Amino acid sequence: MSLPPPDAMNPADSDEGTPVSVKIRERVRAARKRFHANDNIADFIEPGELERLLDEVTEKMQGVLDSLVIDTAHDHNTTATARRVAKMYLTEVFKGRYVKGPTVTEFPNAEHLNELMIVGPITVRSACSHHFCPVIGKVWIGVLPNERTNVIGLSKYARLAEWIMGRPQIQEEAIIQLADLIQDKTSPDGLAIVMEATHYCMAWRGVKDMDSKMINSVMRGVFLKDPNLRREFLSLIPR
Ligand SMILES: [Zn+2]
Repeated sequence: MSLPPPDAMNPADSDEGTPVSVKIRERVRAARKRFHANDNIADFIEPGELERLLDEVTEKMQGVLDSLVIDTAHDHNTTATARRVAKMYLTEVFKGRYVKGPTVTEFPNAEHLNELMIVGPITVRSACSHHFCPVIGKVWIGVLPNERTNVIGLSKYARLAEWIMGRPQIQEEAIIQLADLIQDKTSPDGLAIVMEATHYCMAWRGVKDMDSKMINSVMRGVFLKDPNLRREFLSLIPR
């Protein structure tokens, strides 16, 4: 009887030394999914891998500091910066890429609510995909339910927005991702979203304009067809 080669006996041994990011990327590719900055990849991360990803990003971040010629060995301010930044990216500001979406309990619309409902302002925090500079702003959500629409708790809109914005984003794409998600969870007759945000890549660098904000909106369903409803929504937003 001949034994199989050691690699075939224990496949786990064969990929030792392969960076965890490579393994995750391979799974995403095998599933033919995207992994752009504002995509969520939680389905491809196995238990325990986020911790290993943290180690990997720390190491790479240390390389960035080294290349910036910062003496992290002697400068007490930057000794733990690589780890702090890695942790901030993976577990705070870009968490919306790595964790599954918040559980949102949908209730049937028992009261048959069919009046315009507005939620906001919800504070949103993100970073631009171009510079990784903060993007901070507010979002208002208008929903026109129908009898078959699901109802979700008010605080859930903020949780959904936080999950979408917790990724390197482009405001134009973020608002569409948020609209798709709310549409998917509640199926209302109409959905309107307005987002107003300051992009710090314009304040801290570039044109260094402290006051410019970007405002964009998405109108769906009856908000598209009914100019009066659209006007009502826009007039009720205290801006
Ligand atoms: Zn930018």
